[in-house]
Amino acid sequence: MEAEKEEGGENVKRKIASRKLKRVCEYCGKNFNKGDVYYINRYVFSDIDWVIAFEFLICPKCKWKSEQRKARKATLPERCKHPIIHTEYSYIPGECVMEPAYDYCAICGKVSP
Ligand SMILES: [Zn+2]
Ligand SMILES: [Zn+2]
Repeated sequence: MEAEKEEGGENVKRKIASRKLKRVCEYCGKNFNKGDVYYINRYVFSDIDWVIAFEFLICPKCKWKSEQRKARKATLPERCKHPIIHTEYSYIPGECVMEPAYDYCAICGKVSP
């Protein structure tokens, strides 16, 4: 057992199956045979007096796909043309009438000036 510091967040480790694994890829259900590369995603959520950790296996293909998705999401606000604008309403102080507070993009969440 290697000592592992429990830190919040995601921790991904690359592994090579030393035998056929009982567990399959969480995303596509692929089996891992001896010699296959797989990744263990371990999520740890912690608070002052509790820690929840769970992990799942993911195949290299799905890992790559999820990274592409993450990268796309990260650059979304720069590429977004804000095609769907929603208006957020809020109550006028002291009255039970709502007024438009601000507009925001339903795709990337950018608030319009
Ligand atoms: Zn997969
Ligand atoms: Zn947008």
